[in-house]
Amino acid sequence: MRPWILQETSYAYVKEQPYEVAVLPLGATEPHNLHLPYGTDVFEATIVGEKLCEAAHEQGAKIVLLPTIPYGTETNMQAFPLAMNLQPSTLACVIADLVETLVTSGIRKIVLLNSHGGNDLKPVLRELYGRTEAHLFLCNWYRVLSDCYSELFTHADDHAGEMETSFALAYFPDLVRRNEQGQLAADEGKPHRSRFEAIERGWVGITRPWHLLTTNSGCGNPHEATAEKGHELMRRLEERLVPFLVELSRSPIDESFPFRRDAPESE
Ligand SMILES: [Zn+2]
Repeated sequence: MRPWILQETSYAYVKEQPYEVAVLPLGATEPHNLHLPYGTDVFEATIVGEKLCEAAHEQGAKIVLLPTIPYGTETNMQAFPLAMNLQPSTLACVIADLVETLVTSGIRKIVLLNSHGGNDLKPVLRELYGRTEAHLFLCNWYRVLSDCYSELFTHADDHAGEMETSFALAYFPDLVRRNEQGQLAADEGKPHRSRFEAIERGWVGITRPWHLLTTNSGCGNPHEATAEKGHELMRRLEERLVPFLVELSRSPIDESFPFRRDAPESE
């Protein structure tokens, strides 16, 4: 039994636990180029959650990891088979219901650990703010290392590229498809460009139609991925996020939570 994982824990244990923090991982079920499984985001969210919560638990955090939500928003992936969609409003309702369950169970610090770029969750935090006793925290784990990404990886990863493939090679290598030569059975993950410069430069946004953006749903070259890079990714995620979870567990919810009470820093 790993007592920080709700699915592995019995009521006999849970009823004695003064949990402070719940972590809700969010995944997705969708194609990932030709080589990674549909469950990639689910596996990632679950494994990141398990590693972070284990380390935080060992450092004294009163933390519980919830089961991963296996579906996410896939409205712009519908040209691909079995990209299982929850509309943003549906997903928001699911999260709101689970948040209320946590509040009923006495847990008011809730971390949404998101693995899927199509899950746009900040509006959920805004919508629930003031309507629930819970304090919500959002972590898109795949963005946590953006400032040092190039120290770990050669190619940018938008979807099923070097970062995700390295993660898969480290933690679920048996599910990564290879060709007869032993290479990754993936295309280059090269995206098509928009006809509008403003979109290319990020001045104007769209929700990208993935069947027009990509050839086989992958966006980002996966071919230099290694298991070692995946392990280093996790090490750095733990380095940054475990102290947060431990502090969050210890921090009392008072009037100024989650801000400090001392005077603001002068410029
Ligand atoms: Zn993914």
